Amino acid sequence: MKRIKNRSWAEPYKIKMVEPLFMNTRQQREKFLMDAGYNTFLLKSRDVYIDLLTDSGTSAMSDRQWAGIMMGDESYAGSENFYHLEETVQNYYGYKHIIPTHQGRAAEHIISQILIKKGDFLPGNMYFTTTRLHQELAGGTFVDVIVDEAHDANSEFKFKGNINLEKLENLIKEKGADKIPYVCMATTVNMAGGQPISMQNLKELRKLTSKYGIKIIHDMTRVAENAYMIQQLEEGYAKKTCAEIVREICDLTDAATMSAKKDALVNIGGFLAVNDYAVFEKARNMVVIYEGLHTYGGMAGRDMEALAIGITESVNDDHIQARVGQVMYLGNKLIQAGVPVVKPIGTHGVFLNAREILPHVSQDNFPAQALAAEIYLDSGVRAMERGVVSAGRNIKTGLHNYPKLELVRLTIPRRVYTQAHMDVIAESVEYVYQNAHKIKGLKMVYEPKYLRFFQARFEPVI
Ligand SMILES: *Cc1c(COP(=O)(O)O)cnc(C)c1O
Repeated sequence: MKRIKNRSWAEPYKIKMVEPLFMNTRQQREKFLMDAGYNTFLLKSRDVYIDLLTDSGTSAMSDRQWAGIMMGDESYAGSENFYHLEETVQNYYGYKHIIPTHQGRAAEHIISQILIKKGDFLPGNMYFTTTRLHQELAGGTFVDVIVDEAHDANSEFKFKGNINLEKLENLIKEKGADKIPYVCMATTVNMAGGQPISMQNLKELRKLTSKYGIKIIHDMTRVAENAYMIQQLEEGYAKKTCAEIVREICDLTDAATMSAKKDALVNIGGFLAVNDYAVFEKARNMVVIYEGLHTYGGMAGRDMEALAIGITESVNDDHIQARVGQVMYLGNKLIQAGVPVVKPIGTHGVFLNAREILPHVSQDNFPAQALAAEIYLDSGVRAMERGVVSAGRNIKTGLHNYPKLELVRLTIPRRVYTQAHMDVIAESVEYVYQNAHKIKGLKMVYEPKYLRFFQARFEPVI
């Protein structure tokens, strides 16, 4: 179905099975939130009305994918479903070799251990929590080389996922190309607010890295969403299909880590995909230690089948237009209501600018964490902090990393909620924004050592 210009889009599916949602009272939510240490990660999903914590593993599978689940070949070695998955990855993404893993971070672990030496530098278009941690655990140091616009929530630059090539080349000259095994290039950039990189920038990045013999490792978690933005915004791509653009992106890179729980429409799964046979051989050996045999990695046969089908659906133009369209619908509603959000609206969620919403709360009192807590109290909508709590501590000094962006992420699961849910969310966020002066912030009372945002506990500042 091609959309008629200037008419609305609608979901390219109809609903065959429903899952009930539970509503509760503000009084109940006050207790639930206190029990959860004011951390939305620690709430029970039973106590959440609309769950926007993450788009990771929360997508609705299609009837085809569920049928695929019934086709699981649960053989220990050489499962039918592995070969289907391998063929699908080769077909849509073009990478030669694939190693299934239980999710994205396992692929990051393996590639980091293989390619990084102690003392290496890993430039990237902003960091992602698990990616950076695996680089550090392998002895490397992450260096942010994203364009400056990405750190400015109000810049309306279209491709805030772009890499500043001058920054990158300066780093190469300063440290030496032999200290930089690869550039980590994410499509789209999660921590910047779900912002895309342009094809033009990626082509220039390929040229620069080839000149110095540096690899590009593609964090392809949301590659279809990035491809859609290229199709919509970049000159010369309006007539290409999302699938064609996805392939063009992958062809400009050397290897990829994939969290299939996002773009690829499955509840669990991921993979490492590489072109270089020598790297593949090492990875295939390592996966046996940490995940499982190389023809299942961390996945059941049925899950590999659902993933192969999910990849095919994820690059479909009608699907991706409705997926990103729903996020844009919510984002534009909030913009119209005057709520400070990261602009342009990203592809997998709307990011509220907690610094502007709570200018009176210092970063030491975790404004984004406090805002996410308040939205839950108001309506049972669960969001997530992406600010100083997520940024963690500096590995050398032990002090908080203070990111410029202090955000609350309203992440939209794929094919799960309707436009009416988006309206309810927008009304709640608007109400909280209008009453934001009453929010005082939080103090941290328990802090785990790694990836603290998942398990930290807080108390309100009185
Ligand atoms: C989720 C995510 C990962 C990690 O994947 P998991 O499947 O959660 O382990 C890596 N990079 C990005 C950009 C992500 O969004």
